[in-house]
Amino acid sequence: MTSPLPSPLPSPLPLLASDLDRTLIYSAAALALTMPDAEAPRLLCVETYEHKPLSFMTEEAAGLLTGLADHALLVPTTTRTREQYGRIRLPGPPPRYAVCANGGHILVDGEADADWHARVRRTLTECVPLAEVRAHLRSTAHPDWLLKERTAEDLFAYLVVDRALLPDTWLKELADWAGQRGWGVSLQGRKIYAVPHALTKSAAVAEVARRTDAPYTYAAGDALLDADLLLAADRGWRPGHGELADSGWDAPHVRALTERGVLAGERILREARGALRAGS
Ligand SMILES: [Mg+2]
Repeated sequence: MTSPLPSPLPSPLPLLASDLDRTLIYSAAALALTMPDAEAPRLLCVETYEHKPLSFMTEEAAGLLTGLADHALLVPTTTRTREQYGRIRLPGPPPRYAVCANGGHILVDGEADADWHARVRRTLTECVPLAEVRAHLRSTAHPDWLLKERTAEDLFAYLVVDRALLPDTWLKELADWAGQRGWGVSLQGRKIYAVPHALTKSAAVAEVARRTDAPYTYAAGDALLDADLLLAADRGWRPGHGELADSGWDAPHVRALTERGVLAGERILREARGALRAGS
């Protein structure tokens, strides 16, 4: 009896590089379930934190994501640390590649790629060191609205703040100060990120595309830290909420969706499926 022929090697799949928080997955505060209760979508919990459900997607989105697996390589592309990413359990097969720490780490089958990380570290010598940025944050943030001050993966810093009490002027002054030192600032929900300009999601996704011979890349994201990812992609989508929507950011190849909250995540996956089907 002859053994069956090996199945042909799959041709390289296009990449779908998607931000996670407030793009694919949503905390309860970000769901924006504005429809009548009886019409609200069923939700799947995809992250538990300290024994409590934390992040969700719609059941419909979960089905769409699972269905994409044979047609595109999903690359979760997040500012989360590796540890924070590790809590997320997306439906479908575990992603082969993931980008964490805003491009500071590429995970390959769950393991950080040391070569990539070393390369990133070398590019960060051009900007002011993290310690200096952190000292500035600590000395200027006010205890009235500062809830937490953290660093992530020894690459960048973030604050958790009380948005209602945060003065707009402080954020503007921080952005000016940071900009002169090679760092950018992003406000997402209750978090203010200070991230080196050289630390980008797009560079890490380009590396994944190179390694996988991806013929093209789709991207999705909601925040300023996703702008370079969207610009570098062949096609992209952004939700109707978030920093990019609020600032009126656009690009010819990036579709600005009107959906807000968890329904935007579902719509992005529906759009991606349509684009893959059309081969565009
Ligand atoms: Mg986001």
